[in-house]
Amino acid sequence: MSSQLFQQDVLFYQRFLKANGFYTKKLDGIWGSNTDAADKAFEAKGREIATALGTFDKTSENNIATLAPKVQALARKFLKLATTEGRDVRIISGTRTYAEQDALYKKGRYGSTEGIVTNAKGGQSNHNFGIAWDIGIFEGGKYITADKKYTALAGLVMPNLPELEWGGNWTSFKDNPHYQHKAISEKVADVRAAFELGQPYV
Ligand SMILES: [Zn+2]
Repeated sequence: MSSQLFQQDVLFYQRFLKANGFYTKKLDGIWGSNTDAADKAFEAKGREIATALGTFDKTSENNIATLAPKVQALARKFLKLATTEGRDVRIISGTRTYAEQDALYKKGRYGSTEGIVTNAKGGQSNHNFGIAWDIGIFEGGKYITADKKYTALAGLVMPNLPELEWGGNWTSFKDNPHYQHKAISEKVADVRAAFELGQPYV
């Protein structure tokens, strides 16, 4: 999803912009000239990071654009390492607004016949603050699910990127395709509290 979609959820986007140093005014959910200027500054920062650290496939690019700037930089360093030796690794998921997370949570619940895809409601996932991304490994254009491929990749990239956390290291809910930038706390509730106040969390 594109960062432009955040514009439909102005309060969410203002929190994101404020916590990442682009917006200093009131979190009022109204798109005015200050929010507009912050939006433009955020997009410009993203282009600057892309120029410095390289660009990747279109899916990855669309998802990287939804991440906090520090996290964009880390994601690009990650992809550079991950895609060496001809590996086809893409970032297939980035930031989700609380509303998008709630929609995902409803899958497989409340009479929905689809499979359950997440245990997190809006504000309960690190994907809701711009610090997390999920990858897909592809071979011959086909999406690969084999755990050992994801574990091998983590073994390759993790020693080189100290700010990186890998979902495969989690004990309660192992999540091999998931990566995130280390935040102020390992507790989602702490990150959420900072995010909602527009305070730095990464
Ligand atoms: Zn994830």
